[in-house]
Amino acid sequence: MKEIYLRDYVKPAFSIESVNLTFELEEEQTDVTNVMKFTKLDETQKHLRLDAMDLELLKLYINDLEIDESRYIIENESLTVLNVPASFTLKVVNRIYPHKNSELEGLYKSGSIFCTQNEPEGFRRITPYLDRPDVMSVFTTTVVANREKYPVLLSNGNKAQCHDSFDERHGVTWVDPHKKPSYLFALVAGDLGSISDEYTTASGERIELNIYCDLGNESKCYHAMKSLKEAMLWDEEKYGREYDLEIYNIVAVDSFNMGAMENKGLNIFNSAYVLADTDTASDANYMGIQSVIAHEYFHNWTGNRITCRDWFQLTLKEGLTVFRDQCFSADLNSSEVQRIEDVKGLRERQFVEDASPTAHPIQPKSYISMNNFYTSTVYEKGAEVIRMIHTLLGEENYRKATDIYFEEFDGQAVTTDDFLWAMSEASGLDLSAFKNWYHQSGTPKLKVDENFEKGVYTLNLTQIVPTTVDGKTQNPFYYPLKIALLDDQGKEILHETLIVSKMQEEFTYGGLKAKPTLSINRDFSAPIVVEQEGVDFSFLMKHDKNSFIKYEAAQAFGVETLESIMNGEDINPAFIESFGHLLDLDLDLSYKALLLELPSVSTLMQRQEKVDFEPIYEAKEKLSIALASTYKEKLLKLYTAHHEVHAAINSISMGKRSLKNRVLRILSALETEEIALLTQTQYKSSKSMSDRVIALDILENIHSNFSQVALSDFYNKYKDETLVMNKYFSILAASNRVGTIDRVQALQNDPVYDEKVPNLVRSLIGVFARNYKHFHSKDGHGYAFVADKIITIDKINPQMASGLAGAFKIYSRINETNKTLIEKELKRVISTQDLSKNTFEIISKILK
Ligand SMILES: [Zn+2]
Repeated sequence: MKEIYLRDYVKPAFSIESVNLTFELEEEQTDVTNVMKFTKLDETQKHLRLDAMDLELLKLYINDLEIDESRYIIENESLTVLNVPASFTLKVVNRIYPHKNSELEGLYKSGSIFCTQNEPEGFRRITPYLDRPDVMSVFTTTVVANREKYPVLLSNGNKAQCHDSFDERHGVTWVDPHKKPSYLFALVAGDLGSISDEYTTASGERIELNIYCDLGNESKCYHAMKSLKEAMLWDEEKYGREYDLEIYNIVAVDSFNMGAMENKGLNIFNSAYVLADTDTASDANYMGIQSVIAHEYFHNWTGNRITCRDWFQLTLKEGLTVFRDQCFSADLNSSEVQRIEDVKGLRERQFVEDASPTAHPIQPKSYISMNNFYTSTVYEKGAEVIRMIHTLLGEENYRKATDIYFEEFDGQAVTTDDFLWAMSEASGLDLSAFKNWYHQSGTPKLKVDENFEKGVYTLNLTQIVPTTVDGKTQNPFYYPLKIALLDDQGKEILHETLIVSKMQEEFTYGGLKAKPTLSINRDFSAPIVVEQEGVDFSFLMKHDKNSFIKYEAAQAFGVETLESIMNGEDINPAFIESFGHLLDLDLDLSYKALLLELPSVSTLMQRQEKVDFEPIYEAKEKLSIALASTYKEKLLKLYTAHHEVHAAINSISMGKRSLKNRVLRILSALETEEIALLTQTQYKSSKSMSDRVIALDILENIHSNFSQVALSDFYNKYKDETLVMNKYFSILAASNRVGTIDRVQALQNDPVYDEKVPNLVRSLIGVFARNYKHFHSKDGHGYAFVADKIITIDKINPQMASGLAGAFKIYSRINETNKTLIEKELKRVISTQDLSKNTFEIISKILK
């Protein structure tokens, strides 16, 4: 399979001044007429090679003259037109079959809706094109379809014209005045419901806003609409960026490979990130919608107007836009909770990726399938890299720098170097050493040694730089490190931002009365792992004013305690005591809920030499029981004080819910009748979806008699709501019960389940593959089942299959028994005939 390298980049040999597309949508096929104006940029190129995949060519014209087969060559993934002049118009008529497209790339049908997904390389499945992001053009699109079945016809840009003279058919022409690459092209046709609103920009332009969905779901779109307006305002205030078309459309579809797509003026969303009402959506769903709606909106500037030169630059738009949506969410909600959630996500996904055979820099050097590089590294670590730049420059210079970036590169396809140039230009900062973050992989570690003598405190820092996947050594990193020194009362003696750039760094602080306590990597100022011996976590938990470090200390103390239990020691009473202290604190409730969370299985697994899940589960259970029984009365009091049955969506109610549900989870370790009853009452009486799914999950896992009743009740109530059924499948797939694998296998025959819908596959098979207990069971049944699913799903949707294959990334680090079992299954998958390049790339890297 062909590997593509960043170093092989060459500029496009042709430019396309304009593209004029006409789509004739029919039930069985779609005919596309594509008229493009080309200009040769490289005179030495005689032929025009266009990307084309699975297309049926009907007719081809150069300057209105039809040409025959002697003038072009059709190959597997291309159409080459021979001996083309310096400038010319090429007209292509081709046929595609959207209803057969189960890969969900290009033009396909989600239920009865026509929709598109073209990033990164879907457009070549619609019509022949220079399908690369550095070819930007102006698109005019006419969509023609049956009027009754497809009353709504949408594409990018502004609505220019409606055509009514087609008998039972009608058409709409859309003109997008902004140059864009083909991956941002979108089309939607269907019988859709919608809600509308408007937004007036800072400079007084009135923008029409529409959100489209399946008929009947209109009332679930209001939270998304509110979030969109919040995002538009925020981008004006924070970055001085206004929206630039007359209309902004969002469409929610059920079958979608990703979360959402920022197509110019026509965002297409996985319905999970649009639809919400208090009966069907959890608090996490509400937060997710606000953040994803904003993320796609922010792309209008960071991604669409300024795009990537090639796909190796993906983090240019994604790292920056994730950073922007994280700041937006922090500004609108609790900033301390947001920061912790960002870091939790990074550690659970990105750090795990860094420690696996698929580790890569945020700017990868090569790929087989670009679809495999929409990773946590490119997105979330990419956002941390932008955050470090923000810290290094400071708010004011950062804003100056982004202004320069927008001014200098508007309308262009650029590189991460161009972005860094703008950052340096505004600040005068030399960022050349910082560039290692873009080209090196792995999670850097920082070893901390302290010394105190005669009133002088010395901080010695040693960078431990990871090697690459192939064992090559890498250079030290350059980053901001926020620290503080605390006195014995926990008061800050000083706080500052150090710059770490060399392998060894030394910082000294004189005039101190006693050895201070170090508070290091405050706010998680750099995405690194700090290694420090003999830290008094209990002291930091109690005294550090930095909300992140307080959380960090609680987690680290939890890890230390759990690891000692795993080593056969008794539970450290100091941890139990500190936990009790946290229960009494008067803090933001969502933040407090995070402080009370024990370290995840994933956190502990990442620290094991040879991964083995059983001892982790046992230790967690033991500690949970100890905490729950020590503080039972206090926990019950907290629960009662914050339990409400209504489902109001505001920060106070959401905070109460997150705290009381955390408390309920802790109490559930006791597995008593009393707690089962309390959980059952919550399930029955609460109006909030968060309350009900958490109760359902607890009942399932404490083996309560009521759990079957509750599951049936939930199923019957929501079997027609696919988004809610995802929650149902997830609970069952994540269960710790004996026989979980049999239930998951049986659920595949449930009438609600559909292997073609990515959300459902993710919530049943994907969640099962993250159920450490059953997926990694020592009889190998979990592995065999998921391997079978990868083989079947690869034929339907390769992107989904390679996503599932990611569950095996732990291969090189797991204990020998499991390793042998995984190897057998992966070898079986990779020897399957006609395996997609997506799945091949992931599995071959894992096995290497
Ligand atoms: Zn994005």
